[in-house]
Amino acid sequence: MAVPLSPLELLERTWRGEHVDPDNVRRFVRSWLSDGAPDAQMAAWCAIAQARGLDRDSTRGLMSALIASGERLDLTSLGRTGDLHSTGGVGDNVSLVAVPLAAALGVRVAKMSRRGLGHWGGTVDKLEAIPGYRTTIDLGEFIGQVQRVGCALIAQNPRLVPGDGRLTSLREATGTVANCDLIAASVMSKALAGGTQALALEVTWGEGAACTSLEEARRTAELMAWLASGWDRDVRTIVTAIREPLGRMVGNALEVREAAEVLRGGGPADLRRVAARLAGELAEAAGAVPAGGGGGRADAALADGSALAVAERWVEAQGGNPAVWTVPSVLALAPVGLPVHPARDGVVEAIDARAIGDAVRRLGAGRLHPAQQVDHAVGVELMAKVGEPVASGAPIAMIHARDSWLAEGCAAELRDAFRIGVAPDGPETAAASER
Ligand code: URA
Repeated sequence: MAVPLSPLELLERTWRGEHVDPDNVRRFVRSWLSDGAPDAQMAAWCAIAQARGLDRDSTRGLMSALIASGERLDLTSLGRTGDLHSTGGVGDNVSLVAVPLAAALGVRVAKMSRRGLGHWGGTVDKLEAIPGYRTTIDLGEFIGQVQRVGCALIAQNPRLVPGDGRLTSLREATGTVANCDLIAASVMSKALAGGTQALALEVTWGEGAACTSLEEARRTAELMAWLASGWDRDVRTIVTAIREPLGRMVGNALEVREAAEVLRGGGPADLRRVAARLAGELAEAAGAVPAGGGGGRADAALADGSALAVAERWVEAQGGNPAVWTVPSVLALAPVGLPVHPARDGVVEAIDARAIGDAVRRLGAGRLHPAQQVDHAVGVELMAKVGEPVASGAPIAMIHARDSWLAEGCAAELRDAFRIGVAPDGPETAAASER
């Protein structure tokens, strides 16, 4: 049994990079969640994690304390169940496609998501762009819908990992969201408390994501699989580069529009590929399709409309307008459209995804403080991606803003986010994914 550490000793040890056993971390987190220990100490711990990372045992201690903050679901009676998560990134709307897609392949998908964090949007903010969609439903209805419709996607529930909701708000308020260890604990607490048998996890890296390098993303993917060990789950991880934004749309309603294009069998190739990969991995892990067959079956379900049919039933079951997937005008679009032109002719060598994410957040699509209302109708549409030729007469992006003052305030920054030259960076620039 480890010697109990006071919060101050735990902070000092973590800061010095010394090992802290999971029991002490669990106790520290529990005392913050349940016994009124001050936010300041938890904020300091998150800042230390952000600055120097956590060791595996500390991450595990955090995850267990978050899971213990609420109930745990047991969905074994539903058959082949699965959940999928992405560590997130600029323009990463993969879940909107992958959830109904995996359900179309025969997995019962029960997923809980979060609101926006840092410079990228959260799935719940995107779902709330769908008129009528209820992100908050009680757990009984959630499970019933998974059984009846094949999938349900809800916001953080007060009965399931409420501690993660509180910690997420604190991280948002203290600029400590973009740390892969904190993210791993947060994602895995939801995934494991959610009680599904199979898990597919996408870990993103690059300027538009929390993990800044491929090595860090691989380490995080391994960490997440390790956190699930002992839980008797079938876990798959994929690693995806988000060095330029995924797809062409960044902003809540815009990303729903783009997900709809993919569900209708079109849309940007990078988003389609990652969503099919994640859904295919989940279907294989859940035993709904034979090993090695997930990707192909996912492509087929996008092409033959079966994923779209599930998406319509899913949104309708949660009170949303199912026409969202086929009639783009159902979604709000901000009144001002301002085109951005390139500084010169050439080929797009790189797009700074972080700069795009920051600009879109300033337009109102994300939060600069936790209580801020999100504007679902604003965002940026990329008319050029890495490797594509551009000429000064044609726009490289379209800003959708509430007013022209806000749009003009972002135009120069967006133009500068595009590096125009003669040839794109190496192959890692594209949203390539690896297992
Ligand atoms: N997804 C989560 O659930 N939590 C994070 O911190 C980041 C992504």
